[in-house]
Amino acid sequence: MVSRVIPVEPFDLVIFGGTGDLARRKILPALFRRFRAGQIRSDTRIIGAARREMDTAAWRNFVAEAISAHARDAEGDREEATAREGFVRMLDYVVLDASGETGWAQLAGLVGDGRVRAFYFSVAPRLFGALAERLHQHGMADGDSRIVVEKPFGRDLASAQELNRTLARHFHEGQIYRIDHYLGKETVQNLMAIRFGNMLFEPLWNSQYVDHIQITVAETVGVDGRADYYDRAGAMRDMMQNHLMQLLCLIAMEPPARFEPDPVRDEKLKVIRALDPVEPDNLVRGQYAAGDGMRGYRDHVGNPDSTTESFVALKAHISNWRWAGTPFYLRTGKRLRDRASEIAVVFKDTPHSIFDDDAGRHRNILTIRLQPNEGIELGVTIKEPGPGGMRLVDVPLDMTFAEALGPEEADFPDAYERLIMDVIRGNQTLFMRGDEVEAAWAWTDPAIATWDGGDGMAPAPIPYPSGSSGPRESLMLMRRDGREWREIRA
Ligand code: NAP
Repeated sequence: MVSRVIPVEPFDLVIFGGTGDLARRKILPALFRRFRAGQIRSDTRIIGAARREMDTAAWRNFVAEAISAHARDAEGDREEATAREGFVRMLDYVVLDASGETGWAQLAGLVGDGRVRAFYFSVAPRLFGALAERLHQHGMADGDSRIVVEKPFGRDLASAQELNRTLARHFHEGQIYRIDHYLGKETVQNLMAIRFGNMLFEPLWNSQYVDHIQITVAETVGVDGRADYYDRAGAMRDMMQNHLMQLLCLIAMEPPARFEPDPVRDEKLKVIRALDPVEPDNLVRGQYAAGDGMRGYRDHVGNPDSTTESFVALKAHISNWRWAGTPFYLRTGKRLRDRASEIAVVFKDTPHSIFDDDAGRHRNILTIRLQPNEGIELGVTIKEPGPGGMRLVDVPLDMTFAEALGPEEADFPDAYERLIMDVIRGNQTLFMRGDEVEAAWAWTDPAIATWDGGDGMAPAPIPYPSGSSGPRESLMLMRRDGREWREIRA
């Protein structure tokens, strides 16, 4: 299997917030890897913009260091040093204030006509409106321009609608790329290939054959470095409303007529609109406590009274013909046992067992692992080998990409690499449309309102030990239905 790199036409990319954490850790290393792979041509221009006083030479040094520290497999060998020299030659820097006049005329003079121009808003969301306005004022918001907007996209429905309206004043929907980097993950796209490229699964993909679906996004880190933001957001806003909802959409949607932006996004939107409101009994909020020499959440964010959740689990129902009767269990949290994210489709028991009870009963589970070791595994029941009579045992049909494709082929691009290249190619399939984001908030807001009446008096979430699977109540959410969460295991 040979992976193909199709070079893109030279383009101009402006990174607002070019000195920030996201630019340093993700955006710039991703661009470097695409350059080294031969996808980005050397007459492309990448322009960093921020208020910090520095010249282009200093920003080039900053970027070179970011690449050494954060580009995956940065080897430091001669070939890489040459690639890095070539890459930094494409870089320019402009001292610019998003909400003032500084730097805008200079930027307008740098970006060219007749090529794709992308503007990456890697700054605090309160600056998104000012950036859109200034780009328009300085003649950079025309049809060849695209803007890339980072999360969070609002903190509720009203603020997301306001932000959509603000951006729409100067950019039409086809120019706006709302990033959810989960959609750029290889396995997430493979989920669509597995579902819609094979005859095998789709006939079984409904409530008649699927007992339930569980989605887990577990992190071991705490709120490191993002305490202020996180304490105002919490797990429901930071993860559930976007990443987990997107995964839910892809697993539950109807086959789109074509693999194109609007047909795919139309189907995802229908899933969100078919979700029943979450009942308070089906929602568990947790907050990690101190223990094992680790600081607890409240200590971490410096707010001894914080009632923000660092963990949330819920049971969701989709009211449509395909899924009525099949529950979806979703959970995400920080400081959990392992860093492990997966979707598990748990099929029903066979209608009748022809084997003795001694043989045991097993269920087929299709597991889509997002991290670590991206891959897909199907648990199949077979006879235990040997002379011990008919005993059944589960064996995994394992499609770990690194094993199935070999390490080189499985060295696929990081989510940011793929998504930035999609922006340049003008492909919005893996980006959220404005109505999708609003529908997701319209579903999340009432759930949040069950604990947060807006008066700052939300009840405290349930404490859970660092390194655990979250609060016991989350386990009970499934046990009371006679089901179990899968173990959180890397
Ligand atoms: P950050 O480290 O605080 O960086 C912010 C950047 O914005 C800096 O380069 C800063 O440089 C620049 N900036 C601030 N005010 C400005 C102004 N008035 N005009 C021009 N530039 C200005 O933030 P970040 O972590 O990179 O996050 C950037 C965006 O990505 C945010 O929307 C965040 O929510 C989102 N995001 C970040 C992560 C992550 O892992 N970091 C993950 C997901 C989403 P100066 O101070 O020099 O101007």
